[in-house]
Amino acid sequence: MNNTDNYKEPSRRGGIEVICGSMFSGKTEELIRRIRRAKIAKQNVEIFKPTIDVRYSDKDVVSHNRHAHSAVPVENSYSILLMSQGFDVIAIDEAQFFDDGIVDVCNKLANQGIRVIVAGLDMDYLGHPFGPMPNLLAIADEVYKTRAICVHCGNLANYSFRTANSNQQVLLGEMQEYEPLCRNCYQEMMTKKQQN
Ligand SMILES: [Zn+2]
Repeated sequence: MNNTDNYKEPSRRGGIEVICGSMFSGKTEELIRRIRRAKIAKQNVEIFKPTIDVRYSDKDVVSHNRHAHSAVPVENSYSILLMSQGFDVIAIDEAQFFDDGIVDVCNKLANQGIRVIVAGLDMDYLGHPFGPMPNLLAIADEVYKTRAICVHCGNLANYSFRTANSNQQVLLGEMQEYEPLCRNCYQEMMTKKQQN
């Protein structure tokens, strides 16, 4: 068949990809990998992150192994909507720190045909779903769960155990404050912590 009259250029397909996991599980590396490939495909990419994440740099998305891409720090989710026009791909790092409006924002962007890639911690240090992440997972077209390695036993780890003594939900950290643990080791350590 050679009928080109009915041929239509495939419309841009919007969608939401969520990359989630514990600390040190490679979430940001996976986000950066996808951004790099989108850039190779000549897509216009913009990266956002919450202003709260100022661990290494004001402007960059930096993973623990220090791969950097320039990111725009924003105060709230609505700013992302306002600043996303004209882009093919929107990446959002540390999404767990955003307000609940991020869910609606991601849906709106995807409905406009934008590819939305979101990375964030699925659970806080107490093992509870973190901020808007559970709702983002619910509306995602694709979910990619990254897992770290348990530093106690070498199994795959889903939990971010806080070694530092603090009860804040938000404590940005590095290896000295958190360690990735598997379910068994996490439970053991939490029980020990409660006994102290
Ligand atoms: Zn373990």
